[in-house]
Amino acid sequence: MNPSLLDAAKAAASNAHAPYSGFGVGAALLLDDGSIVTGCNFENASYGLSLCAEAVALATLNAQGKLRQLREVGIVGGALKDGAIGGKAPVRPCGRCRQILNEAAQLARTDLIVHCASADLSVVEKHRLSDLLPFSFGPQDLGLVQDD
Ligand SMILES: [Zn+2]
Repeated sequence: MNPSLLDAAKAAASNAHAPYSGFGVGAALLLDDGSIVTGCNFENASYGLSLCAEAVALATLNAQGKLRQLREVGIVGGALKDGAIGGKAPVRPCGRCRQILNEAAQLARTDLIVHCASADLSVVEKHRLSDLLPFSFGPQDLGLVQDD
């Protein structure tokens, strides 16, 4: 793993707009050229409109036209206190984000590696997206084949 991937995710988490949950999450996407794109959760007073860190990072990657370069994901999160996250439990992507990651992974033609870490980085799990989202739904289920 790129050692700076989780550091980048943790730094992004400190920018989370999470006044309702008080739980900051940062996501960092590692591309095939070694560059990193980050996102953090962006909550809304209308709770259902809130965006997860992974979704924000992937939307940024999409805006850059680089979805096909995605290789790995790092996720770090924890309770916010004084602008920093804390906690010893790893944060894993929610179900919606697993589906969004799956779409990007199919475009990138890879079974994404997903690193899930605690805020203090003392616990780091390494998963394949196919393990986090078995029997996934994707473009192939709509009869669409991904072309380059
Ligand atoms: Zn999510």
